[in-house]
Amino acid sequence: MKYTAPRGTKDILPDDSSIWQVVENVCRAVFGLYNYQEIRTPIFEPTELFARSIGDSTDIVKKEMYTFADRKGRSLTLRPEATAAVVRAGLENNLISTDNLTKLYYIGPMFRYERPQAGRQRQFNQAGIEAFGSNDPLLDAEVIQMAVKLFETLGLKELEVDVNSVGCKKCRPVYLEALKKYFQENIKHMCEDCKARFETNPLRILDCKEEPCQKYIAKAPAMVDHLDPECKDHFEKVVGWLGGLGVKFKINDRLVRGLDYYTKTAFEVVSKRLGAQNAVCGGGRYDDLVEELGGKPTPAIGFAIGLERLIEVLKSENKQQGMGHRIDLFIATIGDEARKVGFDLLTKARISGVRADTDYLGKSLKAQMKAADRLKAHYVYIIGEEELKKKSAMLKNMETADQKEVPFDQLFKDTGCDCGDDCKCSCEDDGCCD
Ligand code: ATP
Ligand code: MG
Repeated sequence: MKYTAPRGTKDILPDDSSIWQVVENVCRAVFGLYNYQEIRTPIFEPTELFARSIGDSTDIVKKEMYTFADRKGRSLTLRPEATAAVVRAGLENNLISTDNLTKLYYIGPMFRYERPQAGRQRQFNQAGIEAFGSNDPLLDAEVIQMAVKLFETLGLKELEVDVNSVGCKKCRPVYLEALKKYFQENIKHMCEDCKARFETNPLRILDCKEEPCQKYIAKAPAMVDHLDPECKDHFEKVVGWLGGLGVKFKINDRLVRGLDYYTKTAFEVVSKRLGAQNAVCGGGRYDDLVEELGGKPTPAIGFAIGLERLIEVLKSENKQQGMGHRIDLFIATIGDEARKVGFDLLTKARISGVRADTDYLGKSLKAQMKAADRLKAHYVYIIGEEELKKKSAMLKNMETADQKEVPFDQLFKDTGCDCGDDCKCSCEDDGCCD
C-alpha cells in the first residue's frame, strides 16, 4: 500500500522550504514595519463562526468547508480563511476597541474543498493583516501600499493593483436591484452558477469567469455609480490617497470579492504571470463584521495573500534565486586523525554562527567535494595528512575556485564576511556590517 498526500494538498519540500522561509520572513518584516503584531488562532473554529461571517450564500460556506462533528457532536470547521477567526479572538480577548487602532497579522494554512488546479489547493497558506478601529480612508490606502511594498521587497514588478468600492448595506441593495433588472433579460443565456447567483447574490455574477457570461457582465451597471454620498466620498478619498502615496493602481468596477462581509473598499493584486487563478492578494473593508460577530460597531480592513501563488509568481519572474538553502563551509577530511580535527573545527564553526557540515559516509575526497557542491557550500576546507602536520589547510572558495592557506586556529576569521571586524557574520554582502 502506497500512501499519497490527500488530493489538493502538497508537501513543501526542502528545496522549496527555504523560499517559503524567506517569503514568510519578508511578510513578518514588512508587517512589522507598519506596526502589525502577530496573532495565532486555532486551525478550527465553530462552524457557525464562518457561516455567519463569510455568508450562507457564498461558495465557501455552501460547498467548500471542511466541516466535521467532534466526539461530543460539536460542529467544527477547518478555517477557510482567517478574518472571522481573528475577529473572534480579538473580541474574546478584548483586543478590539473603537478608540484604538488594533493591527494584527497572521500566517498559516487555510482549507477549502475546491477543485484542485493550478493556483488552487485544498490546503493552502495565507499571510494576512487586519486593522480594527478606524474608517479613515488613509488606512485603506496604507494597507494597499503595504501589500505593494511587500511584493516590491521580494523583487516582484509585474503586478497590478485593482481597486473598487462595493458600497455598504445602505447603498448596495439599491445597486443589487439595478443589477437584477439589468441581468433579468439575459440570465437565461448565462451559466448555471450565474443563474443561482441571480437569485441569491447578483453581485457575485460580476465575478464569473465563464466566457459566455462575459459579454453580459461587461455592460452591467457599476457599483461606483450607485454609491451613497458617504461611500462615494470614502472611495474618492482612498483613490486620492493612493495617488498621493504613489501607488500604481487601476479602478476595476467589476471587482467583487467572494466573501459577503466586505463593505466599501475592495481590492486585489493580480499577476499576469498566473493563469486563470491570477489573484495573489485580496482584501478590503468589512465595517459591519465586528458588530455582526457580537462586538460594538467597529470599522475594519484587511487583506490576505495567497502564499502558494506568490511563490509561483516569484519563480516565474525568476526572483527566487539566492533564496535556496546553502551552507557556508564544508569540511572535507582524509583519514581518521584529520576527521577528529575536522570535527573539532566543525563544532567551532557552529559556535561562531557559521553554517557548516562534513562527511558522514566515509566518502573519498572527490566524492566529498561533490557533496559540498550539492550543498552549495561557499567554502570547503580540506584537511589531509600534510595539513595535520602544518596545522593549516587550504580554504577553497567554491564560486571563484580561489584557494588560500588558513591555519586551523585562524579559520573563522576568514570564512564569510570580509568586513575586517571579526564580526562572525557569515554574510558576504557588500557593506552588510557598515
Ligand atoms: P480566488 O477568486 O482566486 O479564488 P478568493 O476570492 O477566494 O480568490 P480570498 O478568499 O480573498 O480569495 O483569499 C485571498 C488569496 O488567497 C487569494 O487571492 C489567493 O491568492 C489565495 N487563495 C484563495 N483560495 C485559494 C486556494 N484554494 N488555493 C490557493 N490559494 C488560494
Ligand atoms: Mg475562491
